Amino acid sequence: MKKLKILSDAAKYDVSCSSSGVERRNRGEGRLGNSRSFGICHTWSSDGRCISLLKILMTNRCVYDCVYCVNKATNDVERASFMPEEVAKLTIEFYRRNYIEGLFLSSAIEKSSNQTMENIHKILLLLRKKYHFNGYIHVKAIPGADKELIEQCGYLADRMSVNIELPTKESLGKLAPQKKHSSIIAPMKEIRNRLLLSQDEKKALVHYKRFVPAGQSTQMIIGATEDTDYKILTCAEYLYNKYNMKRVYYSAYVPVNSHSTLPSIQTTPPLLREHRLYQADWLLRFYNFTSEDIFIGGSQSISTKFDPKMNWALNNLHLFPIEINQAPLELLIRIPGVGHTSARRIIKERKVAFLNYEALCKTGCVIKRAKYFVTCKGKYYGENMDIDFIKRKYLNEQKYEQLSFFG
Ligand code: SF4
Repeated sequence: MKKLKILSDAAKYDVSCSSSGVERRNRGEGRLGNSRSFGICHTWSSDGRCISLLKILMTNRCVYDCVYCVNKATNDVERASFMPEEVAKLTIEFYRRNYIEGLFLSSAIEKSSNQTMENIHKILLLLRKKYHFNGYIHVKAIPGADKELIEQCGYLADRMSVNIELPTKESLGKLAPQKKHSSIIAPMKEIRNRLLLSQDEKKALVHYKRFVPAGQSTQMIIGATEDTDYKILTCAEYLYNKYNMKRVYYSAYVPVNSHSTLPSIQTTPPLLREHRLYQADWLLRFYNFTSEDIFIGGSQSISTKFDPKMNWALNNLHLFPIEINQAPLELLIRIPGVGHTSARRIIKERKVAFLNYEALCKTGCVIKRAKYFVTCKGKYYGENMDIDFIKRKYLNEQKYEQLSFFG
């Protein structure tokens, strides 16, 4: 329990999953179970199900000294390491008790990259071959580890991730001098190549082994350096295009150490900035946006006032209003307030009859936003297409209000 407490607490800065964060002791008679704030996190499967994962570090003993990290070698924190068999047994026992559906395993670098990756591999072997565990496993690929080791792990895990940490070599050199940009990119490249090979073999119907079927992901820290949103998002765009990245996670910097190269220890995590980056990232992945659409006129940061899609629309007002009964899907999904689901509904419904304003409301779009940018059967319902008017209305809409069933 002590090791579990230390190593699950140390894992909380990795944001690929978020901790359940609830602590509740069983006090009353006749009650069933306790809730612990550490160890279990939640993530989402591709079909939208929320699944619980045991989220732990294999060890928090680290030979590296990344200045932003709570586990860095020179920090005086309680240290612990799990043996491979302990992690495997914990996972199986938790699974049997129905606490978890899978494992999210990360690690500090205890002796060397290869020694750490070898232990991760041992855990995977134990789980898959000895205990025949068929649940979800996400493991870290350790920068600097041999490619053969990474490859062997990839055939046993569902997802692998290598944290790029910062968007530029310069920032990485400043905050994590022992980590080399090339040693982070090398395993990403290896995972991508193997993944493509496995997909080609599957298509060719030859015997193939599943390699990280849930793909690879990475994480970037936001606000620990001067790196702009532009640098962060163009780096993410590059990783999506070049390394078949499934997800880039953005982690608002939480100050845990004092250092001359870091923001002050009193700095609050830039959560709104993180949120806007996630929104922009969503547009890159699912809405055919490019970073040029998001950073208009050479801007380096994402507007915190307006969400990125609204910001794009306000800066391209000459493209609106769009007639919903004629626009193709690519254009419909560019309208603020219209997502993929409502755009598809619009297309389906208009095959039967042209949509009027009432019919548009029923497609599930956010009409409070969409109405300034569309016409229905040629009629505009947004009162005024003046940019300042729309901005004012949007900002008023952002104020919190009691949700209504009928609004
Ligand atoms: S390698 Fe760096 S970021 Fe990872 S645990 Fe060690 S000090 Fe922390």
